[in-house]
Order: sequence, then C-alpha cells, then structure tokens
Amino acid sequence: MEKQSVNILIVDDDRFMLSLLRVMLENMGYTNIMTAQSGVEALEYISGSGKPPDLILCDLRMPGMDGLEFARNLVTFRYSGNLIIVSGAESRILESAEKLLQAHGIRVLGQLRKPFIAADLAALIEKWTPPPNDMPIINRKMYSREEIQKAIINQEFLNYYQPKTEVATGRVTGMETLVRWQHPSDGLVFPEQFIAVAEKNGIIDDITAMIFSNALAAAGDWHDNGQSMKIAVNISMSNLRSLYFPDFIEQLANDAGVPPENIILEITESQLMENHLVSIEVLTRLRLKGFALSIDDFGTGNSTFAQLRDIPFSELKVDRGFVHGACCANTTIRAIYHASLDLAKKLNMAVVAEGVEDIDDWDFLKHTGCQMAQGYFLAHPMPESSVSDWVESWHQRIRDGEI
Ligand code: C2E
Ligand code: CA
Ligand code: CA
Repeated sequence: MEKQSVNILIVDDDRFMLSLLRVMLENMGYTNIMTAQSGVEALEYISGSGKPPDLILCDLRMPGMDGLEFARNLVTFRYSGNLIIVSGAESRILESAEKLLQAHGIRVLGQLRKPFIAADLAALIEKWTPPPNDMPIINRKMYSREEIQKAIINQEFLNYYQPKTEVATGRVTGMETLVRWQHPSDGLVFPEQFIAVAEKNGIIDDITAMIFSNALAAAGDWHDNGQSMKIAVNISMSNLRSLYFPDFIEQLANDAGVPPENIILEITESQLMENHLVSIEVLTRLRLKGFALSIDDFGTGNSTFAQLRDIPFSELKVDRGFVHGACCANTTIRAIYHASLDLAKKLNMAVVAEGVEDIDDWDFLKHTGCQMAQGYFLAHPMPESSVSDWVESWHQRIRDGEI
C-alpha cells in the first residue's frame, strides 16, 4: 500500500505527544494523519468517517476512557486495522495490555515505550499488514443526544435477552437483558452506538428505567409460564449517582411483583467511578434490599480488585477475553481465567464465563469446573418472543447429548 493512502489515527490526551507522533509520521512520508485527544473523540471520528483508519496509535493512560477501554470499543466496530500501543507504563503492563488486546482479536503491531525515537516507530510500522479481505470493516454509526432523546420519547428501545446456564447440568438459571434500539430507518442499533452518549448527557436513567420495567414484565411472563429464571439488567455507573436509585428500583420491582432475589444488577467496572462513595453506598443499599450484584467484564479495566473489596458483589462475570479460546490460549490468559474462578469461590460469589462461543469453550468450562456460562454457543441475544422456543431447543440439545 502506498504511504499516502494509509490512514493513521493517533489517540493521546497529551497534545505534545500528538504533535511529536504526527511529525515523525510525516517525516516517514505518511500524509493521512488524524489525531484525537480522547477515546470518545476517536470513536466518534471512526464511526463518523467513511473510511476507518488502517493504523491506530493509542496511548494507554488517558483520563476518562483509557486505552484498553477504547480498544475494547474498537472490537464492537469490528475494527480490522492494526494498533500500536504508546505508553510510558512499565513493560510488564504494556505486555499484559498487548495480550489482552490480542485476546480481544485486535491486531497489535507492538508497543512504543515513551521515550522513543523515530526509528522505534518506523520499526513497528514495518510490521504493518493490510487487513484480511474476509474481515469487512463494518462502521457503526454513533448517535447524538437529540436522536437518543427522541427515541426515548418514541419508545424505540427494546429488550433482547441472552440466557445464562449452569455448566454441569445445562439448567437455564436466568436471562440477561441487552438493550436494542429499533431505529425507524437504520434498523437494529446496538448499545455501543448510544449508551456512552446517553451516559455522558445524563439521559441514561430514562433508558435504564424503561429497560428495567420491560425486563420485570418479561420475568413476570416467564414466571406465569412456569419458567423460573432470574433476570439480569445492565446498570451503568452513571445510574449510581443518585442516592434515590435503590428506592426507585425497589419500587419498580415491588410493583411488578418480582422479588429482588430474582433480580441481578450487572455493573461494568471499566468506567471510572466519579463519586466513589455515593456509588458504594447505592450498591450496598441495593444489596441490603436483596438485589444480587454482578461485577461485569471481570479482568478488564482498572479497579477490579478495589471494587471487589469495596462492594458486596454476589456474582462475577469473567470477561470473554479470558474465556473464548482459553483452552488453547497462552498461559497468562488461562491463569487469569483460573484466578477469577478461584477468587469467586473464595469470596462466595457465583461465577459466569462470558463469550462461550463454541463446544471447545463449553468443554473447557466443564473440565475446569466453571459454574455458569453465557455466549453464542448457547444463544445469541434474542427478542422476548423467541425465548420459549429457545428454551425448548436447548433442552433438546441436552437430550441429544450435545451439551
Ligand atoms: P455486556 O453486558 O458485557 O454484554 C455482553 C455483550 O457481548 C453483548 O453485546 C452480547 O451480545 C455480546 N455477546 C454475548 N455472547 C457473546 C459471544 O459468545 N461472543 C461475543 N463475541 N460476544 C458475545 P451487546 O448486546 O452489543 O452489549 C454490549 C454492552 O452494552 C454490554 O456488554 C453492556 O455493557 C452494554 N449494555 C447492553 N444493554 C445495556 C443496558 O440496558 N444498559 C446499559 N447501561 N448498558 C447496556
Ligand atoms: Ca452484562
Ligand atoms: Ca460482560
């Protein structure tokens, strides 16, 4: 590929670093260079531009969305270009970050440790390869606050459900709610395209309330049909800013007649807690009221252990980066998987492995004694109308000895 036609995006919160990298790249003959000062800005650029970058240079430590979270978001855009990690962090951290990103399927060319010289950068870019043809770059559009607000008013959000099952028995223990937006002209829109914007603009509470009410209604229907399944709802850190949140949630559950013990609130720990103490109080009160709390995407983000220490979680969800392909993955990934299982056991928490995509993953969980599983191998997220057929077909797979 001609240097002039390679699109490069640099993401760093440090303006000086942005200029330095730009100059180095220009001196090497690259001309299509974009810069972004935060992960959010970079994602907005990627989703808005016709042609996604071929190469991204990304700082790891950035305020707000850090480099790991940014890269994780890239996965949902099916980014198929290459990535270079730029950081002043110590090499062990960089190596772990690289492994983690690779586990997420991102093609990492390597690490550029600060301070660096142009020759270091040139050596990494030498390794650049064009994306494989069988991996189409799908560009997902991001939506604005106004568009999201309109969708809330028009009630365009709906719940999809993905089952969680016991590994040893195959028993279906619950359903996780995953929000979808039935857009009038764009079709089905995924949470990555609007949740972050909704959080940033203070309108996530409206979405959560709607999703939660829908989930409670579905739980009621399943209960009436003789299927006792717990219902899990994803809660954003931004929902936890208000001390009234626990009472609000409790009221909704009471009105729907669903006991809090059957409701799991999944909290993603990768977002920074803005007001640590309020969030801890809100979560502790929810737990006191009987709701189950789940720590989502465990193993990613920054504050994993601190959150386990501070918050009375009852369930741990091992991130799919440590699950899918774990049987044949490198020892670090397997070590994190095993450590997560041990930790959950010692802390008396239920454990769910996410991202179980194939029979190898399922067998690996069985052999390693993982309690619960979730992932495409069991089922893709589905609308409520498909749930009872899925339960039927799952039981058939068990009878057929497939599971
Ligand atoms: P999550 O809670 O970790 O949900 C799992 C995501 O992985 C879902 O993506 C699901 O469709 C996908 N997934 C499930 N099984 C597999 C698998 O085997 N392989 C792979 N590669 N992916 C799998 P989805 O639905 O796009 O949701 C993305 C994220 O958006 C969720 O991650 C969650 O953090 C957030 N989210 C979803 N619904 C809500 C909501 O109602 N409120 C809030 N605040 N966040 C939500
Ligand atoms: Ca979740
Ligand atoms: Ca997760």
